[in-house]
Amino acid sequence: MDKEYYVNTFSDQIEDSIEDDINQIISTYMQIFKASLSPTDTWAINSSGKKVNDRTIYTGFGGYLYLYWKLRPVYPSYEIDLRACVDAVKKKYAELDTEIPTFLIGKVGISALLAVIEKNPEYVEDVLSNTPDNWEAFELLYGAVGGLYGLGFILKHYPEVPQRPQIIAKIQAIANCIISNKNQDNHLIFNFPPPGGKLYLGAAHGTIGILHILMQLREYIPQYDQVIKDSLNLVIDSQFPSGNFPSYPGNKYDDTVHFCHGAPGAVPMLCLAYQIYNENNYLQAALKAGEDVWRRGLLLKGNCLCHGSSGNAYSFLALFNATGDQIWLNRALRFAYVMGFHDDYNVAVLNYDDGQRERIGIADNPYSLMEGVAGSVCFLVDVLNPLTAAFPAYDF
Ligand SMILES: [Zn+2]
Repeated sequence: MDKEYYVNTFSDQIEDSIEDDINQIISTYMQIFKASLSPTDTWAINSSGKKVNDRTIYTGFGGYLYLYWKLRPVYPSYEIDLRACVDAVKKKYAELDTEIPTFLIGKVGISALLAVIEKNPEYVEDVLSNTPDNWEAFELLYGAVGGLYGLGFILKHYPEVPQRPQIIAKIQAIANCIISNKNQDNHLIFNFPPPGGKLYLGAAHGTIGILHILMQLREYIPQYDQVIKDSLNLVIDSQFPSGNFPSYPGNKYDDTVHFCHGAPGAVPMLCLAYQIYNENNYLQAALKAGEDVWRRGLLLKGNCLCHGSSGNAYSFLALFNATGDQIWLNRALRFAYVMGFHDDYNVAVLNYDDGQRERIGIADNPYSLMEGVAGSVCFLVDVLNPLTAAFPAYDF
């Protein structure tokens, strides 16, 4: 199989002009975005330019709301677009589907975003009433920690929320449901899809994502440290000599260096484990994984968050914040620069056939938060503001 990455021969020393360069990339990406989608559009656009009825934050118009929310504090001129987007989303709000109650896929994600943007407790009520205590799946995209993410997101970004006690009680109930389904080795590893699917490790579908969300909520669930640490050992014991992680324990395939499966999703989680428990082996595993993301993380799938160079570069920001070592910020800046200005990389992306997409070289949801340009812009905003960087739908 052909390799999935662009060989990284780039320097991790950075020129003084980099901030201007990255602002230029943000501006170019937003021009591309707005040429196809206005802030009032309540649909997504696929790779053929057709309208798609996708309302999720993952690939649909919910992700555009997230983008404008992310842009506004840094670029106040986006206030107008944010207001227009909020009004458009509210007009569709009653029609949104409550079936999958996770931040990335369900209505609760949009409710949580509206609650935070509008500081409106009515949307918090919707999050609370649409998020169940008991779950059959536990992963980030379609499972329990995807529900927990919305609750933690509200506590972080709407600290004066009047339903704080109810949110904390809901967090504790969901966490209890997750922990009570651990296996006999005290590991948080679950089949996806349940009951017969794979025992995934990665951030989107498995243990790494579950641990990352639970650790961010530790102040409300301190009694689960032991099961979290035992599950951390499972993750670390699975690390390849390369520094990468398999999609499930025992899988020998070491070519997937993505946020959703692999080292880039693990690095922020391991950095957080190090910051909480102060155990050096977590940091060593994160550093080793980060080296592999630097080596193999410029992905030919393109610049998206879920399985692209932006998502991968967030792991450098996590390492920068955990260690204070400038080299990691430089590496994040270098990935941003390559995405914006390196013609040969961008041509390689356009010619890459991953065999799964509708069109060669273009994501199926090219403007979306997790597969498209909206997520890349979030990363570019964060690389200029690294101390407050937050991977969308993963860090609160
Ligand atoms: Zn992915």
